[in-house]
Amino acid sequence: MLKLEDTYLHKGKRKALVKLLREKGIKSERVLDAIYQLPRHFFFDSALISHAYEDKAFPIGEGQTISQPYTVAFQTELLDVHEGHRVLEIGTGSGYQGTILRILGAEVFTIEYQKKLYEGTQRFLKRLGVDLHLFHGDGSQGLPNYAPYDRILVTAGAPVVPNELIRQLKLGGILVIPVGDRESQKMLKLTKKSNTQVIKEEFDNFAFVPLLGKDGWR
Ligand code: SAM
Repeated sequence: MLKLEDTYLHKGKRKALVKLLREKGIKSERVLDAIYQLPRHFFFDSALISHAYEDKAFPIGEGQTISQPYTVAFQTELLDVHEGHRVLEIGTGSGYQGTILRILGAEVFTIEYQKKLYEGTQRFLKRLGVDLHLFHGDGSQGLPNYAPYDRILVTAGAPVVPNELIRQLKLGGILVIPVGDRESQKMLKLTKKSNTQVIKEEFDNFAFVPLLGKDGWR
Protein backbone atom coordinates (compact mmCIF):
# COMPACT_ATOMS: atom_id res chain seq x y z
CA MET A 1 0.00 0.00 0.00
CA LEU A 2 1.25 3.49 -0.93
CA LYS A 3 2.70 5.50 1.96
CA LEU A 4 1.08 8.93 2.13
CA GLU A 5 4.22 10.89 2.83
CA ASP A 6 4.73 14.52 1.80
CA THR A 7 8.40 15.53 1.95
CA TYR A 8 10.29 18.80 1.43
CA LEU A 9 11.24 17.47 -1.99
CA HIS A 10 7.58 17.06 -2.96
CA LYS A 11 6.73 20.51 -1.58
CA GLY A 12 9.60 22.01 -3.58
CA LYS A 13 8.34 20.34 -6.75
CA ARG A 14 4.82 21.67 -6.06
CA LYS A 15 6.19 25.17 -5.59
CA ALA A 16 7.91 24.91 -8.99
CA LEU A 17 4.67 23.60 -10.54
CA VAL A 18 2.70 26.55 -9.11
CA LYS A 19 5.31 28.95 -10.53
CA LEU A 20 4.89 27.32 -13.95
CA LEU A 21 1.08 27.56 -13.77
CA ARG A 22 1.39 31.26 -12.89
CA GLU A 23 3.69 31.79 -15.88
CA LYS A 24 1.15 29.99 -18.09
CA GLY A 25 -1.49 32.55 -17.09
CA ILE A 26 -3.31 31.18 -14.01
CA LYS A 27 -4.11 34.21 -11.85
CA SER A 28 -6.30 33.00 -9.01
CA GLU A 29 -4.14 32.83 -5.87
CA ARG A 30 -6.82 30.68 -4.21
CA VAL A 31 -6.57 28.09 -6.99
CA LEU A 32 -2.76 28.19 -7.00
CA ASP A 33 -2.70 27.81 -3.23
CA ALA A 34 -5.04 24.78 -3.37
CA ILE A 35 -2.70 23.16 -5.93
CA TYR A 36 0.25 23.92 -3.64
CA GLN A 37 -1.57 22.41 -0.63
CA LEU A 38 -2.62 19.13 -2.25
CA PRO A 39 0.08 16.46 -2.77
CA ARG A 40 -0.63 15.30 -6.34
CA HIS A 41 1.70 12.32 -5.89
CA PHE A 42 -0.82 10.77 -3.44
CA PHE A 43 -3.14 10.25 -6.42
CA PHE A 44 -0.53 8.41 -8.51
CA ASP A 45 0.29 4.78 -8.98
CA SER A 46 3.61 4.09 -7.18
CA ALA A 47 5.35 3.32 -10.51
CA LEU A 48 4.60 6.83 -11.80
CA ILE A 49 5.16 8.87 -8.63
CA SER A 50 8.36 10.54 -9.85
CA HIS A 51 6.27 12.19 -12.62
CA ALA A 52 3.57 13.60 -10.33
CA TYR A 53 4.72 17.23 -10.57
CA GLU A 54 5.14 17.34 -14.34
CA ASP A 55 2.51 19.43 -16.08
CA LYS A 56 1.07 16.39 -17.83
CA ALA A 57 -1.91 14.03 -17.70
CA PHE A 58 -1.11 10.48 -16.51
CA PRO A 59 -2.91 7.10 -16.57
CA ILE A 60 -5.01 6.14 -13.53
CA GLY A 61 -6.31 2.78 -14.82
CA GLU A 62 -9.40 1.77 -16.82
CA GLY A 63 -8.02 3.76 -19.79
CA GLN A 64 -8.59 7.03 -17.91
CA THR A 65 -6.29 9.87 -16.81
CA ILE A 66 -5.64 12.35 -14.04
CA SER A 67 -5.86 15.71 -15.88
CA GLN A 68 -2.83 17.91 -16.53
CA PRO A 69 -2.32 20.40 -13.65
CA TYR A 70 -2.73 23.34 -16.07
CA THR A 71 -6.11 21.96 -17.15
CA VAL A 72 -7.21 21.50 -13.51
CA ALA A 73 -6.10 25.05 -12.70
CA PHE A 74 -7.75 26.52 -15.82
CA GLN A 75 -11.10 24.79 -15.24
CA THR A 76 -11.09 25.57 -11.51
CA GLU A 77 -10.33 29.24 -12.15
CA LEU A 78 -13.21 29.47 -14.66
CA LEU A 79 -15.55 27.77 -12.21
CA ASP A 80 -15.01 30.56 -9.63
CA VAL A 81 -15.86 28.40 -6.60
CA HIS A 82 -16.76 30.06 -3.29
CA GLU A 83 -16.93 28.65 0.24
CA GLY A 84 -20.18 26.71 0.74
CA HIS A 85 -20.99 26.24 -2.96
CA ARG A 86 -22.67 23.00 -4.00
CA VAL A 87 -20.51 21.72 -6.83
CA LEU A 88 -21.14 18.76 -9.12
CA GLU A 89 -18.11 17.25 -10.83
CA ILE A 90 -18.64 14.85 -13.73
CA GLY A 91 -15.71 12.42 -14.06
CA THR A 92 -14.32 11.69 -10.57
CA GLY A 93 -11.30 9.81 -11.95
CA SER A 94 -8.55 9.83 -9.31
CA GLY A 95 -10.43 12.27 -7.02
CA TYR A 96 -7.72 14.94 -7.39
CA GLN A 97 -9.90 17.64 -8.98
CA GLY A 98 -12.73 16.94 -6.54
CA THR A 99 -10.32 17.33 -3.61
CA ILE A 100 -9.12 20.69 -5.01
CA LEU A 101 -12.78 21.83 -5.06
CA ARG A 102 -13.18 20.63 -1.46
CA ILE A 103 -10.07 22.58 -0.37
CA LEU A 104 -11.74 25.66 -1.91
CA GLY A 105 -14.62 25.14 0.52
CA ALA A 106 -17.22 23.54 -1.75
CA GLU A 107 -19.58 20.70 -0.89
CA VAL A 108 -18.59 18.34 -3.69
CA PHE A 109 -20.82 15.81 -5.45
CA THR A 110 -18.84 13.78 -7.98
CA ILE A 111 -19.91 11.03 -10.35
CA GLU A 112 -17.80 8.44 -12.19
CA TYR A 113 -18.87 6.16 -15.05
CA GLN A 114 -16.23 3.42 -14.58
CA LYS A 115 -17.26 1.18 -11.68
CA LYS A 116 -13.72 0.00 -10.79
CA LEU A 117 -12.39 3.55 -10.75
CA TYR A 118 -15.31 4.71 -8.61
CA GLU A 119 -14.68 1.91 -6.09
CA GLY A 120 -10.90 2.44 -5.97
CA THR A 121 -11.20 6.22 -5.58
CA GLN A 122 -13.87 5.85 -2.91
CA ARG A 123 -11.53 3.62 -0.86
CA PHE A 124 -8.57 5.95 -1.41
CA LEU A 125 -10.40 9.18 -0.46
CA LYS A 126 -11.69 7.53 2.71
CA ARG A 127 -8.11 6.68 3.64
CA LEU A 128 -7.05 10.25 2.84
CA GLY A 129 -9.90 11.61 4.99
CA VAL A 130 -11.46 13.66 2.17
CA ASP A 131 -15.25 13.95 2.45
CA LEU A 132 -16.63 14.08 -1.10
CA HIS A 133 -20.05 12.64 -2.03
CA LEU A 134 -19.12 9.96 -4.58
CA PHE A 135 -21.53 8.35 -7.04
CA HIS A 136 -21.28 5.76 -9.78
CA GLY A 137 -23.28 6.38 -12.94
CA ASP A 138 -23.77 8.42 -16.11
CA GLY A 139 -22.88 12.02 -15.27
CA SER A 140 -23.97 13.21 -18.73
CA GLN A 141 -27.41 13.30 -17.06
CA GLY A 142 -26.08 15.13 -14.00
CA LEU A 143 -27.18 14.02 -10.55
CA PRO A 144 -30.81 15.19 -10.36
CA ASN A 145 -31.48 13.92 -6.82
CA TYR A 146 -29.08 16.46 -5.30
CA ALA A 147 -29.70 19.38 -7.71
CA PRO A 148 -29.63 22.36 -7.99
CA TYR A 149 -25.90 23.18 -7.99
CA ASP A 150 -24.02 26.48 -7.85
CA ARG A 151 -21.37 25.06 -10.15
CA ILE A 152 -21.01 22.06 -12.48
CA LEU A 153 -17.64 20.93 -13.84
CA VAL A 154 -17.26 18.35 -16.60
CA THR A 155 -13.79 16.78 -16.75
CA ALA A 156 -14.29 14.68 -19.92
CA GLY A 157 -14.74 15.85 -23.52
CA ALA A 158 -18.41 16.14 -24.55
CA PRO A 159 -19.94 16.17 -28.06
CA VAL A 160 -22.70 18.61 -26.92
CA VAL A 161 -23.75 20.56 -23.83
CA PRO A 162 -26.23 18.22 -22.10
CA ASN A 163 -29.52 20.07 -21.42
CA GLU A 164 -29.87 18.25 -18.11
CA LEU A 165 -26.74 19.96 -16.78
CA ILE A 166 -28.12 23.43 -17.54
CA ARG A 167 -31.42 22.40 -15.93
CA GLN A 168 -29.64 21.30 -12.72
CA LEU A 169 -27.83 24.65 -12.30
CA LYS A 170 -29.11 27.31 -9.92
CA LEU A 171 -29.89 30.74 -11.39
CA GLY A 172 -26.55 32.54 -11.62
CA GLY A 173 -24.82 29.14 -11.66
CA ILE A 174 -21.84 28.28 -13.87
CA LEU A 175 -21.15 25.19 -15.99
CA VAL A 176 -17.60 24.58 -17.26
CA ILE A 177 -17.43 21.92 -19.98
CA PRO A 178 -15.06 21.00 -22.83
CA VAL A 179 -17.09 20.47 -26.04
CA GLY A 180 -15.91 19.34 -29.47
CA ASP A 181 -14.93 16.19 -31.33
CA ARG A 182 -13.07 13.17 -29.91
CA GLU A 183 -9.61 14.68 -30.48
CA SER A 184 -10.02 18.31 -29.41
CA GLN A 185 -12.54 20.29 -27.38
CA LYS A 186 -13.13 23.98 -26.76
CA MET A 187 -13.48 24.96 -23.12
CA LEU A 188 -16.88 26.57 -22.55
CA LYS A 189 -18.17 28.54 -19.58
CA LEU A 190 -21.97 28.79 -19.47
CA THR A 191 -23.66 31.11 -16.99
CA LYS A 192 -27.37 30.53 -16.34
CA LYS A 193 -28.88 34.02 -16.18
CA SER A 194 -32.51 32.86 -16.14
CA ASN A 195 -34.47 29.75 -17.12
CA THR A 196 -34.39 30.94 -20.74
CA GLN A 197 -31.06 32.80 -20.95
CA VAL A 198 -27.60 31.21 -20.83
CA ILE A 199 -24.45 33.25 -21.56
CA LYS A 200 -21.74 31.27 -23.35
CA GLU A 201 -18.02 32.16 -23.25
CA GLU A 202 -15.41 30.23 -25.26
CA PHE A 203 -11.78 29.60 -24.30
CA ASP A 204 -8.78 27.57 -25.56
CA ASN A 205 -8.79 24.05 -26.99
CA PHE A 206 -7.95 21.04 -24.80
CA ALA A 207 -7.76 17.26 -25.32
CA PHE A 208 -9.82 15.23 -22.80
CA VAL A 209 -10.79 11.57 -22.66
CA PRO A 210 -14.34 11.20 -24.03
CA LEU A 211 -17.48 11.78 -21.98
CA LEU A 212 -19.48 8.55 -22.33
CA GLY A 213 -23.17 7.91 -21.67
CA LYS A 214 -26.52 9.20 -22.97
CA ASP A 215 -25.40 12.73 -23.93
CA GLY A 216 -21.77 11.69 -24.43
CA TRP A 217 -19.97 9.55 -27.00
CA ARG A 218 -21.48 6.07 -27.58
N1 SAM B 1 -11.30 14.74 -12.62
C1 SAM B 1 -10.45 13.57 -12.71
C2 SAM B 1 -9.29 13.61 -11.76
O1 SAM B 1 -9.15 14.58 -11.02
O2 SAM B 1 -8.55 12.62 -11.73
C3 SAM B 1 -9.94 13.33 -14.11
C4 SAM B 1 -10.99 12.99 -15.03
S1 SAM B 1 -10.60 12.04 -16.44
C5 SAM B 1 -9.81 13.22 -17.46
C6 SAM B 1 -12.29 11.91 -17.03
C7 SAM B 1 -13.16 10.97 -16.23
O3 SAM B 1 -14.50 11.08 -16.70
C8 SAM B 1 -12.75 9.51 -16.37
O4 SAM B 1 -12.52 8.95 -15.11
C9 SAM B 1 -13.99 8.88 -17.05
O5 SAM B 1 -14.21 7.54 -16.67
C10 SAM B 1 -15.08 9.81 -16.59
N2 SAM B 1 -16.32 9.80 -17.40
C11 SAM B 1 -16.46 9.67 -18.75
N3 SAM B 1 -17.77 9.72 -19.08
C12 SAM B 1 -18.47 9.88 -17.92
C13 SAM B 1 -19.85 9.99 -17.60
N4 SAM B 1 -20.81 9.97 -18.53
N5 SAM B 1 -20.20 10.13 -16.30
C14 SAM B 1 -19.26 10.17 -15.32
N6 SAM B 1 -17.92 10.06 -15.57
C15 SAM B 1 -17.53 9.93 -16.85
